[in-house]
Amino acid sequence: MTRSISILGATGSVGASTLDLIRRNRGEWRVEALTAHSNVEELAKLCREFGASAAVIADEAHLGALKDALAGSGVEVSAGKSALCEAASRPVDIVMAAIVGCAGLGPVMAAIEQGTTVALANKEALVSAGEVMTAAVAKHGATLLPVDSEHNAIFQCLQGGKLAEVRSITLTASGGPLRTWSKQQLDAATPAQAIAHPNWDMGAKISVDSATMFNKGLELIEAHHLFPVGLDRIRIVVHPQSVIHSLVEYRDGSTLAQLGPSDMRVPIASCLAYPARMDTPMEPLDLASIGELTFQAPDEERFPATRLAREAAEAGGAAPGTLNAANEVAVAAFLAGNIPFSRIALMVESVLSEAELPSPPRTLEEVLRVDEDARRRANAMLETC
Ligand code: NDP
Ligand code: MG
Repeated sequence: MTRSISILGATGSVGASTLDLIRRNRGEWRVEALTAHSNVEELAKLCREFGASAAVIADEAHLGALKDALAGSGVEVSAGKSALCEAASRPVDIVMAAIVGCAGLGPVMAAIEQGTTVALANKEALVSAGEVMTAAVAKHGATLLPVDSEHNAIFQCLQGGKLAEVRSITLTASGGPLRTWSKQQLDAATPAQAIAHPNWDMGAKISVDSATMFNKGLELIEAHHLFPVGLDRIRIVVHPQSVIHSLVEYRDGSTLAQLGPSDMRVPIASCLAYPARMDTPMEPLDLASIGELTFQAPDEERFPATRLAREAAEAGGAAPGTLNAANEVAVAAFLAGNIPFSRIALMVESVLSEAELPSPPRTLEEVLRVDEDARRRANAMLETC
């Protein structure tokens, strides 16, 4: 039977991995909407290849170019934030949420409000909206399937188990490309060095997050919302080989882990086929040639991000959204060459500790206000750097 999908952020790394799986199983999928921010050429190419019904470009300045690129194709073309939400709310079997950053929140909420199954890669949306998103999922009978490899691993380890019987959850972290660098070396890390991830091929923003360990901090908050066990029972361990994607420990002392190659097509396939399984082009895991799996505690002196995220999660309310927004601004500034690497965590800490945080957001509009407020304060800080 044919299934339908819309992909938000189709031109990115997760979007490309998703479309690769669909390309290999063409007869089984109908592509409804594909979206991008500004990459008109790639979006138009994908829409033609997959026979998409609709193409949305978030940046309205590119609407004319997209119309030209898709002239005569029969693909409906639109632009802007409300068009993204319209695309996300089209009736489909599954929406892949793969926009980067809080910019993806509106469309994710639009999909949830239709009661759709959402494969969620866009962790910043869940970190920012937290309970607002999980309450909407419950209210509208939507389903969130975690795409993030760690959360997908936990989700798989929980099949057939009960959260009430879970003693702890352990998120593994590769430690990123700068894992062994000294504080002095970190001060001088360049964007090229920070995005050169040893195991995963990802977009620039998440690659920097992986280097600072904010990725793991965001994932801690993400896990807390997806699998509501106490924060004190969610642990982080550095595992440089990225073979074990996460672990769940049950009350009887059994610990289940999910292993696999460092390729997002594995967790994406698990979401696309859920609750069944589908073929992927992965080579079998060759443990003998991997040889060693090693583990170490995170070093929060050199990489304070996981501490900051845990504190923000414990504080709750506006703190996680503030942390996320400040980090987005700081990462963009770092990638633009405007601040040094170690300033990212310092900026996030300053924005979090500065003055009173807004009151806890209870609606999407309030979540977006927290996000805007934190961005404004982070940008003001950049001006005084
Ligand atoms: P990329 O940067 O590769 O792609 C981002 C996608 O979002 C692109 O399609 C981009 O369009 C679009 N986009 C960017 N900004 C906006 C905006 N303001 N409005 C609308 N669309 C926008 O990111 P990744 O694929 O690496 O990551 C996507 C999400 O998945 C992130 O939240 C990340 O944390 C998460 N994730 C990614 C993993 C990975 O392996 N890459 C692993 C686990 C989670 P355009 O091409 O036009 O700029
Ligand atoms: Mg991850």
